[in-house]
Amino acid sequence: MIAVVRDIQDEVVSFTQELIQIPSLTGDEGALAQVVFEKLRAIGVDEAFIDEIGNVVGILYGGQAGPHVLLNNHLDIVPTGNLENWNGYHPFGAEIDQNGNIHGRGAADDKAGLSVQLYAMKLMKSLRDTGIALPGNVLFASVVHEEAAEMFGIEYLCKKTLPRKGITFDVVFLGEPTDLNLKLGHRGKVEIVVTTRGKTAHSSTPWAGINALQKMIPILETVFDCMGENLARHPELGQGSVTITNLVCRPGTLSIIPDECEISVDRRYVPGETLEGIVEEFQQVLEHLKKKDSQLEASVGVRTFREKSYTGYEKEVQKHHPVWITAKEHPFVRKTFRALQHVGQNPQISYWPGGTDGSLTAGLMGIPTIGYSGMQFNYAHTPQEMVSIQMMMRSLEGYFAILCELFEIDANDLSSIYRFHTGGTGLMQAHHIKGIQECIRPLAPAEYREGRKTSHGSE
Ligand SMILES: [Zn+2]
Repeated sequence: MIAVVRDIQDEVVSFTQELIQIPSLTGDEGALAQVVFEKLRAIGVDEAFIDEIGNVVGILYGGQAGPHVLLNNHLDIVPTGNLENWNGYHPFGAEIDQNGNIHGRGAADDKAGLSVQLYAMKLMKSLRDTGIALPGNVLFASVVHEEAAEMFGIEYLCKKTLPRKGITFDVVFLGEPTDLNLKLGHRGKVEIVVTTRGKTAHSSTPWAGINALQKMIPILETVFDCMGENLARHPELGQGSVTITNLVCRPGTLSIIPDECEISVDRRYVPGETLEGIVEEFQQVLEHLKKKDSQLEASVGVRTFREKSYTGYEKEVQKHHPVWITAKEHPFVRKTFRALQHVGQNPQISYWPGGTDGSLTAGLMGIPTIGYSGMQFNYAHTPQEMVSIQMMMRSLEGYFAILCELFEIDANDLSSIYRFHTGGTGLMQAHHIKGIQECIRPLAPAEYREGRKTSHGSE
């Protein structure tokens, strides 16, 4: 591992522990946001602030040439579940085991990712302090409300906060769990609501009413037995899926035949399918069933929900998160891949099964989005949640390499600062030379300045 990364390991580990020790369920991220904000100020980014919805933003300004890079992660965590399942670890204890794993809720999703992206800012800031110019901005954003409603916090960031400052970005890195691999997309998801209506009656005389639950039965059968069969398939993202996740009857009390029954359908979809098309599929099912039962009254729609952030910002949001995919051949993906190989990593390209804020950045805005971190997806949202310190630090080295590669930072400049010799063949080539990693040490900025010309940079 390169020395600049290894040297800050203790700091990164203790900051990650601090993050885990602050519970930050969706809608209650305020205390954590403050800690992240203070840390950004402490590392001395050019600008740090908390926006109206509660997202924490840090900016390191570079030149105008770009690319401008957004490092994105989220503040919120999912609930702990039953504490008895945590094998003796406290979900907010952030205890380190003998194998070098930090345990706790958020360790794998998404606090180690947050910590690493923040320290990547610090490394780039240190680099700039030595006089190396960054051609583009590095933006850091810890957003609210990812777990409960992807796109709520990031949408505000991308449509309001950043545009107000005239800031754009060309590529996004999501610090979500990827096991040191690259994730380039996932299926879209939408929550479809189907409602049947009937007529209440006393349940001791059920024949006097129309039971909305009973009217739902053929719809349940169709969704479970037929609708999933021939869903569209994508070569990379796989096949769409459909299942029912909830059923509610109203009034829903003893002695009354329900006059309303509602199901929630989780529908995942692939490129080529549209939200309108999916709603239309359900419409057709209902039309078909209505022909068989003239008494069937049923409707379909997309779930909307009123979300409220910890700062009090409220908005009605639709439970629809578009599909996205970043092309493997995209130049940013190629450069990312190459940078990681140069620091001895061998990332595999794959796709997430679940959802991320990439639905907004890539799905709606069309900006190339790449998932990368050292957190392991298997542990996310489980009572075994943890992060390996070694993998976390490798991901920090990865982020440093990626940013240097994207910014095409001159190999000779870096070799002077970190005292290794590249032979002019490129920044990370040097790391292939065995043993060199062990001896590279950063010079103090002042020491460095004495020996170099100041023809460029931001001193
Ligand atoms: Zn996450």
